[in-house]
Amino acid sequence: MEQGCRFNTKILHGKTAHGYGQREILPPISQVTAFEYESMEELEKVFSHKSMGYAYTRIGNPTLAAFEQKINELEGGAGAVSCSSGMSAISSALLSVCEKGNEIIAGRGLYGGTINLFHDLEKLGIHTVFTDRLDRESIEKLTTDRTRVVFGELISNPSLNVLDVREAADSAHKAGVPLIVDSTTATPYIVTPISYGADIVIHSTSKYINGGGNAIGGVIVDGGRFAWDFGKHTALADFKKYGKMAFLIRLRTDLWENLGGCMAPMNAYLSFTGADTLGLRMERICENADALAHALDREEDITVNYLTLETHPYHEYVRKQLGGFGGGILNFRAGTRTRAFRIINSLKYAMIASNIGDVRTLVIHPASTLYIHTGREEMEAAGVFDDTVRVSVGIEDKEDLIEDFINAVRESRE
Ligand code: PLP
Repeated sequence: MEQGCRFNTKILHGKTAHGYGQREILPPISQVTAFEYESMEELEKVFSHKSMGYAYTRIGNPTLAAFEQKINELEGGAGAVSCSSGMSAISSALLSVCEKGNEIIAGRGLYGGTINLFHDLEKLGIHTVFTDRLDRESIEKLTTDRTRVVFGELISNPSLNVLDVREAADSAHKAGVPLIVDSTTATPYIVTPISYGADIVIHSTSKYINGGGNAIGGVIVDGGRFAWDFGKHTALADFKKYGKMAFLIRLRTDLWENLGGCMAPMNAYLSFTGADTLGLRMERICENADALAHALDREEDITVNYLTLETHPYHEYVRKQLGGFGGGILNFRAGTRTRAFRIINSLKYAMIASNIGDVRTLVIHPASTLYIHTGREEMEAAGVFDDTVRVSVGIEDKEDLIEDFINAVRESRE
């Protein structure tokens, strides 16, 4: 296959898109727990990694492999591991690199579940220090001899802070640690963080990659370029002989396997076929979100947060790093929680649901749902207030979406 092709062609005809067992045009769903062998000797070779093959789906499965290879190719990685959810991907990646006594530097304004995970990690002796901005100055300031990872969301959900990947990666590398980027909301259609210097990329594939809202999943892509210092990254010390591949090999053959967070084969299939239309969906979603954000922004008593608004503080990064695409999430503040509820309840098309990245427009009041277990200070640092409405824009006709939202806003005035 021609490798110089563009995004949509690569999704459908990339080097990993062919060669399935019976010439199927899609990977078959290997909906099995285990794989049968002719002799005990053959199975022994598979278990001891002396020959390639599948033994047990928690450890490896051809449908999962097809999905992993597809996302790996889109992100430009050295290898990928699929997981049962985005949270499973984040926890597996962090626990592969960090152990008791280590520290993580993280950008503020992250997805609430990730913030909660950092609290859980505290109980295991892994401490996280947060900074408003993952820039050179704060990474330098917060680095200690215990720091092992810098972690950020490329477009944070829901606060919509944009990570300058190049700057964060350079600063993390200067501190001798990798940069892990959660790129769920950006997607490889908008930006491939590895090409800007990130070391490990994570997606909740439950969102834009799947797109149809029918499969929870996650994936970790390793760029395979970080030069691990095994004296410092002692969590990877047993994998020293693999050099730059130590993280991926530990993940695949040790931590991910033992935590038991594999993706279900059916979900890998659904996410594989969903990803086929990622480019088309993202183009349409970004166009719709931009139009809806500008229309809402013209309403005087509504404060809109969307990346392509000319007044947005990250407008310049959006142009430079995201090719002008603002992604699918927009937030607006309605003035009061009561009004936020009133607007949400009167929308005709947007569904009230706790998800993002669906083809359908979804809407939620984050303070009373996603952040219900988060302290007020942390919630507000994540850009969520009592009157915030989060919209995950879908692929409907933009004229219908605009009409629906503007009617809801106007009718909610007292
Ligand atoms: N990362 C981001 C940016 C998210 O928005 C989410 C979920 O909303 C997750 C990770 C967690 O993904 P999952 O729900 O698949 O575990």
